[in-house]
Amino acid sequence: MAHRFDPRITVWQGDITTIKVDAIVNAANSTLLGGGGVDGAIHRVAGPQLLESCKTLGGCSPGDAKATAAFRLPSDFVIHTVGPVYRGGAAGEAEKLASCYRRSLEVALEIGAHSIAFPAISTGVYGYPLPEATRIALMTVDNMLATISPGRISSVIFVCYDKRALQVYEDIMTGSRMSPD
Ligand code: ADP
Repeated sequence: MAHRFDPRITVWQGDITTIKVDAIVNAANSTLLGGGGVDGAIHRVAGPQLLESCKTLGGCSPGDAKATAAFRLPSDFVIHTVGPVYRGGAAGEAEKLASCYRRSLEVALEIGAHSIAFPAISTGVYGYPLPEATRIALMTVDNMLATISPGRISSVIFVCYDKRALQVYEDIMTGSRMSPD
């Protein structure tokens, strides 16, 4: 039997900087002072005030999350989280990655963000294998939503930048890809 995911979870292919939700999550590095990939895209669209705001946060440890305003982005907030660098899987990467999703949702609750969009944290430059990272993302958020009422978190969108990622998310959501590969 396929696992039935919380109906508040959806998957969407596109650019996270275009989404109008209460909070988008940024896959940042621990300095929070900007990088490439999704981080670079978010800073470009948000404008220079985002960097100024990040400078006041004093960095962020892997697995943790911190919020700022979103400035010129269509969302209200950016939740910056720092994924683990993948080093083969035996260095606590799975627990750190799960923590990114949990802490981001906790921060969303603290700031009153009801709708939230996640990128595929750690699956770019940080090298986390996409199917494994996707299973962790979906299961961690699904488990947390089971404890959070729809009045507090109304929707969680997983944003896939390309078609391959979308396929992986959809396969796991529908249960056609449950074993590690
Ligand atoms: P990390 O360092 O955590 O691996 P990256 O930014 O390199 O972060 O990649 C994380 C994921 O974000 C990758 O799957 C990448 O394809 C995706 N990504 C890159 N740009 C965007 C964007 N504008 N919107 C959504 N996802 C993006």
